[in-house]
Amino acid sequence: MFIIFDTLNQLMNSPLKITLLGTGTSLGVPIIGCDCQVCQSNDPRDNRLRSSALIEWNGKVFLVDAGPDFRQQMLRTSVRNIDAILLTHEHKDHVSGLDDIRALNFLHKKAIDIYSEKRVQDSIRKDFAYVFSVIQYPGIPQMNLHQISPGKIFIGGLEITAIRAMHYKLPILGFRFGDFTYISDTNYIAKEEMEKIYGTRILVINALRWEAHLSHHSIPEAIKLIQEIKPEKAYLTHLSHQAGKYEDLIKELPAGIEPGYDGLVLNL
Ligand SMILES: [Zn+2]
Ligand SMILES: [Zn+2]
Ligand SMILES: [Zn+2]
Repeated sequence: MFIIFDTLNQLMNSPLKITLLGTGTSLGVPIIGCDCQVCQSNDPRDNRLRSSALIEWNGKVFLVDAGPDFRQQMLRTSVRNIDAILLTHEHKDHVSGLDDIRALNFLHKKAIDIYSEKRVQDSIRKDFAYVFSVIQYPGIPQMNLHQISPGKIFIGGLEITAIRAMHYKLPILGFRFGDFTYISDTNYIAKEEMEKIYGTRILVINALRWEAHLSHHSIPEAIKLIQEIKPEKAYLTHLSHQAGKYEDLIKELPAGIEPGYDGLVLNL
């Protein structure tokens, strides 16, 4: 019994490595056809692919969201396998790259486990109907859909907490892995769900731009929320070109809060 407990404890204490694969809003940055100074910036931190995060723990690899830049993002990492993909919600900037899991299917000759809420599963079944059709075309993506809901889930030995957040009227999920919490596409988190986030040491949270928005936190709203949660460090993600250039934005944020950028690695 004690041996099992010790092993579990050791596992839970295995370090987490988080890589922000994408930190941009749905259009990405730069935006096609935009001449603004952010879109024209030479700073690589102003080039933002669609939001996604890779979490590595104890030899296991978890991906949060697989948007249209999934292929390019995977090519930028040295990762050659994904144990689980967790989806925050069904908007295309978070799921449309799922067809590209085929490369991993071919490499490992197995399906990929995908975790999401029921509504998101329904949307995937519709968007990727060819994957679920009775007559299967050769070479299509192989995915196992697993239904989850807010609360604790266990995947590959890791305890993950799914957190309910609101994206205007759409309920979405954020995820907590140990002392790391990742919440994209939200502008409201209820009090009881905030309880699941308290104690987080590193928080990555959605902030779109300085001005208010219907379905995303503005930067001032995100700052207010971060100051309530009090993590050691917070990073903003899902940023629009309207958030300004990285080098300007970082100077305008309070201590302990920074803009995320693609390729940023966080260790816990
Ligand atoms: Zn989004
Ligand atoms: Zn622009
Ligand atoms: Zn969204």
